[in-house]
Order: sequence, then C-alpha cells, then structure tokens
Amino acid sequence: MLYIVATPIGNLEDITLRALRVLKEVDYIAAEDTRHTRKLLTHYDIKTRLVSFHEHSKEEKQDWIIGELRDGRDIALVSDAGTPLISDPGAVLVRKVIEQGIAVTSLPGACAAITAVTLAGIGGSFCFFGFLSKKTGERKRQIDEIKSSAIPTVIYESPHALSATLQAFFEAMGGQRHIVVAKELTKLHERVFSGTLDEACGMFHGDLKGEYVLVLDGCADEAAEVSDSDIAAAINACLDVGMTKKDAAKAASDKLGISKNRAYRLTL
Ligand code: SAM
Repeated sequence: MLYIVATPIGNLEDITLRALRVLKEVDYIAAEDTRHTRKLLTHYDIKTRLVSFHEHSKEEKQDWIIGELRDGRDIALVSDAGTPLISDPGAVLVRKVIEQGIAVTSLPGACAAITAVTLAGIGGSFCFFGFLSKKTGERKRQIDEIKSSAIPTVIYESPHALSATLQAFFEAMGGQRHIVVAKELTKLHERVFSGTLDEACGMFHGDLKGEYVLVLDGCADEAAEVSDSDIAAAINACLDVGMTKKDAAKAASDKLGISKNRAYRLTL
C-alpha cells in the first residue's frame, strides 16, 4: 500500500494519530527532503527508514518505489510540509501507482491552502491556484484568469516574490479588491491580514520573511461590494480635473476593478 501522509505546516502537533502510527509501521518513508522529515520523526521517536523522493527524482526512483510496493512493502509518501502533491511532488508517482492497480490511500491533515481558506471565512466554492508561473507571458495570462474569476482564488507565494505579486494584482485589478494574506500559519508569528489590495501593497513591501498564502476575492464579490455611489465619486473626481467621460469611466474602472461598461453607464 502507498500511504499519502499529510504532515504539519509549522506546528509539530498538527499531525493525526493515524499518520503517526502509519509512519511508524511502514517499511519506508519517501520524503521530499529527508533531513527535514527526520526532525519530525525524531520529535515523535519514529525510526522508520527514510528514502528521498523529490521533484527532481529520476524515473528510476519511481520505478524502484513501485517495485517495492509490488513486492508487498508499505511506503508512506510525505512532503516537507502539509499535504503531498498539493504544490508538492508526488502526482506522477500516485497516478502510476493507481494505473498499476496498486493500493493507495491518503491520510488527511494539514494543508496551508485549506487553513487560509477557513481563516478568510470562506465556506463555499474557491479556486486553488498554487504558485504563479515564473514565465512572464504565462504569469500575465494567469493574473488575467484570476482577475476574472467569479469565486475567490488561493495562491501560494514565496516571501521574496510577495510584494511584486501584490503589485501585479493591483495593476491588473485596481486597489479595491479584497484580499487575505495569511502568514506563518500555525507558527509563533502567525498573522492574518484582511483588507483591500491597495492596503496590502502598503503593508507588504520590501524584504519579507516567512511563508504566505493569499486568498483573493472573486470579481463577483467585488462587483457586489462597489456601490454606484463609490463609482460616481471616482468618476466625478476625474471629471473635475478635466478628463473626458470616456477617460473618467476607464480610470474609475481601473481604480475600482469594475467593468468599463458599468462605469461608463454612470457617466450618462
Ligand atoms: N503541500 C503544502 C500544503 O499542503 O500546503 C504546500 C507546499 S508549497 C511547496 C509551500 C507553500 O505553501 C509556501 O510557499 C506557502 O505559500 C505555503 N505554506 C506552507 N506552509 C505555510 C505556513 N505555515 N503559512 C503560510 N503559508 C504556508
């Protein structure tokens, strides 16, 4: 059996009794970073043999794991933090294991995305994005997709890229969209910021540390939140400085992240 085992995202107590028992009982634990996982095992006095399995592992490693499973061995798959496969290695391996008819099960537990979603007070649908692409064109396409998503989007981001990502969201969507920035979840310095993109850009800039999850509201929530009087005020401010109605509508739509048509209708 292959066991997909969720491990803590910071606080070592966030692991289930079943996960601890399975980690003790399996023949091997396939870990993204064996040194990292060893700290968890030492904490719980688990002596199971660790083998490394990470994103750059060669196909032979997958074949070796599948061979061991076929020979009747039990293997637990863990990542450095949280639920394996979720923006972590393992998807190709798990698909191969399923294709070969080998038993696989998943032990639920910590996941940064789900923890942040609950802290954002979301109980309905949301879209999990994971990390944005590092390629400029693909990243721009993804930001456009996030901008037009009607439901909230959950994004993982590294500390050194956070302020550029918030800035890119601001430029694409305007400053009024609501965002939750969840930092260092389950750890000593856990903080949850909740406010507009404009405020978030002011709060998170420069050299940042820690781990972050972003939960950006969907455009449906935002359109409902921006009232006609907010839009009219933004338009009037532009008309007062001599802009044409068309330019004022565009400026208001950029600022408030609403459609140009909605803004233009209010200039008539
Ligand atoms: N598999 C993991 C999970 O289940 O959440 C995610 C792994 S992904 C490689 C690492 C990213 O998850 C980090 O860059 C950060 O965005 C997020 N993350 C992980 N732990 C976190 C924490 N304690 N607080 C906030 N974000 C965290």
